[in-house]
Amino acid sequence: MSECLFCKIIGREIPTDFVFEDQEVVAFKDINPQAPLHLLIVPRKHIETVNVLTPEDAPLISRMILAARDLAKRFGVAQSGYRLVVNVEKGGGQEIFHIHMHLLGGWC
Ligand code: AMP
Ligand code: ZN
Repeated sequence: MSECLFCKIIGREIPTDFVFEDQEVVAFKDINPQAPLHLLIVPRKHIETVNVLTPEDAPLISRMILAARDLAKRFGVAQSGYRLVVNVEKGGGQEIFHIHMHLLGGWC
């Protein structure tokens, strides 16, 4: 059984309200928000960090960005603006080693 927190969330071992899900990607609110709107966009596939991405993962990364774009519109921050952040390895602030993108916005 995976010890990965995000795999547990995706596998519904940990109850979480998804704001988006499709066959490849899920999104949910960050438990410790750093902005008025703070979502996490997470691929179902367990990939530890950006450093181990392969060319085959390129469509998945595109999918994550497009999902973030759609969520920004849905949550009303598309026009005011938002940040998409991917932390890489411990020195880059990564705490959960299942790749994910932060969507931060709603300041104005
Ligand atoms: P990172 O530092 O880039 O690895 O980001 C991990 C993020 O996951 C942090 O912003 C945490 O607040 C968030 N997080 C940790 N546990 C949960 C959880 N159970 N549900 C939602 N977000 C979580
Ligand atoms: Zn995982």
